[in-house]
Amino acid sequence: MTDPLKTGSTIGILGGGQLGRMLSVAAARLGLRTHIFEPGAQPPAGDVAHRITTASYEDTDALEAFARSVDLVTYEFENIPTTALDTIEAITPIHPNRRALGTSQDRLTEKTFLEGIGLTVAPFADITDAASLHDALAGIGAPAILKTRRFGYDGKGQVRIMAAQDADTALAELAGAPAVLEGFIDFTCEISVIAARNPQGEVACFDPGENVHRDGILHTTTVPASIPASLRTDAVLLAGRVLNALDYVGVMGVELFVTPGGLVVNEIAPRVHNSGHWTQNGCTVDQFEQHIRAISGWPLGDGRRHADVTMENLIGDDMDRVPALAADPSCALHLYGKADAKPGRKMGHVNRITS
Ligand code: AMP
Repeated sequence: MTDPLKTGSTIGILGGGQLGRMLSVAAARLGLRTHIFEPGAQPPAGDVAHRITTASYEDTDALEAFARSVDLVTYEFENIPTTALDTIEAITPIHPNRRALGTSQDRLTEKTFLEGIGLTVAPFADITDAASLHDALAGIGAPAILKTRRFGYDGKGQVRIMAAQDADTALAELAGAPAVLEGFIDFTCEISVIAARNPQGEVACFDPGENVHRDGILHTTTVPASIPASLRTDAVLLAGRVLNALDYVGVMGVELFVTPGGLVVNEIAPRVHNSGHWTQNGCTVDQFEQHIRAISGWPLGDGRRHADVTMENLIGDDMDRVPALAADPSCALHLYGKADAKPGRKMGHVNRITS
């Protein structure tokens, strides 16, 4: 256990999107600096960070210079090349740890791990070719979902199989990528727990939020979720179990399906999460500050919620609604400073206080 990070220290963040931006703002509030590493030009986090390096994840010299300039490194997305992490970790610590990242980067490893710690996941099978898909469908049954093991996000890299005869077309759509087949979960709703753990082993969870997706992208998160108190407790305890098993440091998003038989874990994200944005206006310490506190070895906020909130993502031309939302006193706007409002692009979000 190292000492807590001192004011004036610098946190390196891999990725300069909106999550990196909001992490940078939270760090600045605590008197800490951020240095963003991002291959793309003019990233949203660049406007608010202390420093930015524009370089590719294959650029070892740039990665080494970045690692030397910071006190520790964190990340805002999962798909960081292993070689880049090796280069950085030889110089400075990375939180959350490599095991958490490796586990969540691959759906097969992730499900195997979750099942191994006694949690329920959808029935799943490793798919390597047409024969394994046919065998898996015979066992799991249709409908089912074929998902790439890696690089899936916002519903991308997955195909629904409604009947066994759709199998070959589904496999062709994934173009040979290693995949898993998942049984279809008939859920009553989707919730997520945003949980945090610091190096001292303290764990704090935010109230589970209820998530609604549109076209595979998160549309709204509402707190409180419309679930019984007992399930809320189950969800929070389950998230704590995941964090402890991974000796995790930082904030994690745990996505769950609520079913009549209990909670089924969909996936875990080793980072701040879109479904935790409501905490910015619903809690004293939000998920971004909580992550900075956790990786810096500071005490955690307790996660208590002081308002009912609905978070709505502003995607593409939802930006046309900004003037009206700005005039609504129940709404807190969070815009990411992105220039082009392309369809499907997350441009900002709004937290509406509902009581
Ligand atoms: P994912 O990228 O795995 O989080 O999946 C995106 C969305 O697809 C989820 O939020 C669910 O709405 C739906 N989905 C994914 N997996 C399943 C499943 N096994 N059963 C039912 N719905 C699913």
